[in-house]
Amino acid sequence: MRIFDIQRSLKALGHDPGPLDGVWGGPARSALFSLLYVLRTQVAAGAEIWPQVRLLIAAEQAIMAAHGIDPGVIDGLEGARTLEARRRFSAGAAARPIQTPPGGAIRQGRAGLAVREIILHCAATRPDWMAGRPLREQVEEIRRWHVRINGWRDIGYHWLIGRDGSILPGRPEREIGAHVRGRNSGSLGICLIGGHGSAASDRFSDHYTPAQGAALERLLHEISGRAPIARVSGHNEYAAKACPGFNVLRWLERAES
Ligand SMILES: [Zn+2]
Repeated sequence: MRIFDIQRSLKALGHDPGPLDGVWGGPARSALFSLLYVLRTQVAAGAEIWPQVRLLIAAEQAIMAAHGIDPGVIDGLEGARTLEARRRFSAGAAARPIQTPPGGAIRQGRAGLAVREIILHCAATRPDWMAGRPLREQVEEIRRWHVRINGWRDIGYHWLIGRDGSILPGRPEREIGAHVRGRNSGSLGICLIGGHGSAASDRFSDHYTPAQGAALERLLHEISGRAPIARVSGHNEYAAKACPGFNVLRWLERAES
C-alpha cells in the first residue's frame, strides 16, 4: 500500500491524516496512532519507537483490521497472516469498515449526532485546590462557575476525574457539551482536576497523579467500548491554550505500549 493509499484509508476511517500528499509526516502518524488506539487490544507493544518502514506496515495492518480482514497482531512485520490479509484485501474481500462497536453509539442533541471524539481538558486548579473534599463537591463548584459565571445551562464537561482517580459524570453524554469552541457537537469533554500553570508541551505526570492516569485510561477504554471513537485529542489542538496541560498524542502513544 502506498503512503497515499494509507492516508486516504485513514481519512475514510475517520482519522485525519492531514493533506493527502503521499508524504509520511506528523499528521499521518497521528492518524495512525488514533486508529491504533481504537484497535489497541490487537496492537503489539512499542509502536511509538518503531521506525517508519514498520509503522507503514502497521498502518496497512490496522487499515485491514478496521475492514474486518484479520492481519494477526498489528506489529508492523510482514508475517504469513499479514501477507494473506493483504492478498484478500487487494482482491476486494474487504467488508464495510467496522465503525460501530457492538455497544452501538452515543447520540447527542436533537439531531442525534454520533459521538466520534473525546477531548481532554483540565480544571486549571492548583494541586491542593479543595484538598480533602470529595470530587462531588469539586464538580459542583465547577458547575457553579459554568452556570453562574459563564451563564451556561449546565457544567460544560461530560466527565471529571479527581486527584485520587475517582470519576464522576458532569453534563449527560446525550447532551452537547460546552468545552471546545466549534468541536462540541459529536464529542465528549473529559476534565482532569488540576493543571494550574501547565503548558501544552508538558508531560501528563508533571500535573496529574498516577491515579488520574489510570482512571483516564479506564474511562477512555470504557467509552470506546460504547461508541465508535475515532479520535482522542486535547483542547490545545483546537485553541491556543495549554489545556489540558500535556501533549495528548504523546500520552496516547505511551499508553499504547
Ligand atoms: Zn479545555
